[in-house]
Amino acid sequence: MRFADRVANIKPSATLTINAKAQKLRQMGVKIINFAVGEPDFDTPYHIKQAAVDALKKGFTRYTPASGIIELKEAVCEWISKYYGLKYQPHNVLVSCGGKHAIFNVLQAVLNPGDEVVIPAPYWVSYPDMVVLTGGIPVIVPCVPENNFKLTAPALRDAISEKTRVLILNSPSNPTGVHYSAEELESLVEVIKVRRDLVIISDDIYSRILFGDNKWVNVTMVDHDLLDRTVIIQAVSKTYAMTGWRIGFAVGNEDLISVASKVQSQSTSNPCSIAQWAAVEALKGDQSCVNEMVEKFEERARYVVGRLKAITGVRLVEPQGAFYVFPDLSPYYGRQYKNKQITGSVDMADYLMEEAHIAVVPGIAFGDDRCVRFSIALSDKELAEGLDRLETALKNLEG
Ligand code: GLU
Repeated sequence: MRFADRVANIKPSATLTINAKAQKLRQMGVKIINFAVGEPDFDTPYHIKQAAVDALKKGFTRYTPASGIIELKEAVCEWISKYYGLKYQPHNVLVSCGGKHAIFNVLQAVLNPGDEVVIPAPYWVSYPDMVVLTGGIPVIVPCVPENNFKLTAPALRDAISEKTRVLILNSPSNPTGVHYSAEELESLVEVIKVRRDLVIISDDIYSRILFGDNKWVNVTMVDHDLLDRTVIIQAVSKTYAMTGWRIGFAVGNEDLISVASKVQSQSTSNPCSIAQWAAVEALKGDQSCVNEMVEKFEERARYVVGRLKAITGVRLVEPQGAFYVFPDLSPYYGRQYKNKQITGSVDMADYLMEEAHIAVVPGIAFGDDRCVRFSIALSDKELAEGLDRLETALKNLEG
């Protein structure tokens, strides 16, 4: 059978593929510790689930407007006003089937074939492939651990060409957990301002999961002039432990949102009606559940960082938020097990899966082959056990 050329150029999502592999092994009775997929291990808070039950009882089971119910758009505007101090109206909001879908719709709305999208690496696995699906060209900018994996103004300046249409920023970052400070963003803004037609996708879905003294800030908050050409991506998935409900948002320029909504109206139509009502409660209801989850993520991050740093050769940039760590295991490359040599992050992930029964995502899927990604949204017991296994597995590699 023949398939479209554009599909030949993309890969399946590495995070979801490895998660599926881990689940399959688990079903076969292998005691896998799954550090692969990034989703909170907590259950969706009760009051949010109750809102879904109420929506069902009230019969909110039909189509909604394709771009989402007005109540949810209003709740998003209130929420953004509270956490960003920025004012938007419901016509600035598109409700999609998760943050991923919101990004997809926005890229479809703005890119022509040949348009370039600047993506700092390490990046979330899906950005480049989503760009490729539009016929656009991902321009990957490697960011080094010495600079905490962050994009610098000179690197951004060098990456921008006549064809650049979009810049994707993601802070706190998946996979590194690093968060850009206001000063760091200001220096990027100097460069962004020179290109007046550049659209910024600010993927903020981990904005509420920040540790210590880190204060939430994004590019539009440091410079309001960028409001009109920045699209904020948010979702209830990570903040409220609602990954399966599939509700995310794109918030930005009215015309852009309207075009992205048109794309959605010709593909999925509205996101699940019941999930939308649950999301209204998530955004407007009691927020103490978020604080409790974030406290736990921070505690785990501290524990995991301590354990990883104690392993000989492992290098690590400490996360400031989200629930990932992205250690550099490359000092172990070149070593062997069962006559197989570990040549990069894919081999390392295979080795850890096969021999230690821990699932991690190879760094190459995020644009950095030295590292592997651990999602630390696991119980304390699983974390401890998984890190014990990692330590032993690395020790057992023959030098
Ligand atoms: N965003 C999460 C992750 O990076 C969920 C899976 C996905 O869609 O990539 O693991």
